[in-house]
This record gives sequence, structure tokens and C-alpha cells, in this order.
Amino acid sequence: MKLELAQARKWIDLFVEKIEANKSELNELDTAIGDGDHGTNMDRGAKAIADSFEKKNPENVSDLYKATAFAMIQKVGGASGPLYGTALLDMSKAVKSENIELADLIQVGADGIKRRGESDVGMKTMIDVWQPLADDLKSGHLTHSDVKSALNSTKDMVATKGRASYLEEKSKGHLDPGSQSSAYLFDSLIEVIGENS
Ligand code: ADP
Ligand code: MG
Repeated sequence: MKLELAQARKWIDLFVEKIEANKSELNELDTAIGDGDHGTNMDRGAKAIADSFEKKNPENVSDLYKATAFAMIQKVGGASGPLYGTALLDMSKAVKSENIELADLIQVGADGIKRRGESDVGMKTMIDVWQPLADDLKSGHLTHSDVKSALNSTKDMVATKGRASYLEEKSKGHLDPGSQSSAYLFDSLIEVIGENS
């Protein structure tokens, strides 16, 4: 399947809503194993995305992802801004140049994060949500409960990338904040395309 412009717009609009509604929760998760700013960072990005759409209504899916990427690169900051920004920018290019399926598009995003963050699965980062859910989509099975399991899998991991890695073993027992914000992105996507089981 592929997302039409209206569906992609709904996806990002829902993500913006969830980030704004859960700003303090994301800050709390980041206070436990980071520096406490992930909610504030993402909320700034969410507002920048909404402002950008208001200023210029994206006319195609590629422009929509590009505007989202730019807002995040410019306003989120921290480690997560450039990572989300790279994912969305690569996705913007991929929908422009090829007739790409949604599952492959999500893989393009995950690959962008891995490249930019020099990260992979098992390092307690947002990749632990992006990669398994890209795989789920490819196999035609993606539900809210899959999102929850991917997010929860980060709890018992020891962080080896990002700020939480400074804590070594003590990073265990906490959810990764970037995985929680990514879980909102995927929950939003499922709200648009429906559960696939
Ligand atoms: P900072 O760590 O600079 O304060 P944020 O708090 O906004 O930035 O974002 C932290 C999140 O970014 C982490 O929870 C993790 O999911 C993600 N992250 C950090 N470094 C990497 C990396 N190298 N690869 C993938 N994700 C990363
Ligand atoms: Mg932080």
C-alpha cells in the first residue's frame, strides 16, 4: 500500500497532536536516563511542523515529508532532531523518485536514522521501534500492540548509543524516550491505515 497526500497529512497531524499532548511524559522518560529535554525538543518540532503546514500547505507527499524534516532539523535540536529529520528527508526523496510501498518507505526512514546515528537494533534507541515495525509492515502485520511490544523491548536494554549510554548498566529498567516518541509516530500511522493483522 501507499499513502495518498490526505492520509500522509493526517498521519503527521496526529503525530504533532500526540507529541504536544505527551510533552511532559517524554521529558520524564528523558529525565530518567538522559537530560530531560526530549519532550520539550519534540514539542518545539511539533509546533514548527504545524506552523510550516499553515504557511504553505504541502501539495504532494514528498513536500509534506520534506517540510516535516526541515521543521524537525531546524527546531527539535538534540540528537533526535537530526535523526528524525534525516529519516523524513530520505523518505521525501524516496517517494519522489520511486513508486515506493509504505513498508519500504519506513525502511528508508529507519536506514536514514541508522546511517546518521551510526546505530542499529539493540542499542536502546528509536531504531528499536523503527526497525521491528518496518519488518512488521513488510510482513503485512502491524498493530498497536506491535508498537507497544517494540517500545517495551527497550526497557531491559542497556544503552550503547546516545546520552543514556553514559549510564551503562543503570540505563536498564527505563523506556527509551526516542522510542516513545517514535511509538507515537507509528500509533498515528496505524490510526490512518488501520490495524493490519
Ligand atoms: P539529546 O539526547 O541530545 O538530549 P533528545 O533527548 O531529544 O536528544 O533525544 C534522545 C533520543 O534520541 C534517545 O532516546 C534515542 O532514542 C535517540 N538517539 C540518540 N542517539 C541516537 C543514535 N545514535 N541513533 C539513534 N537514535 C538515537
Ligand atoms: Mg535529551
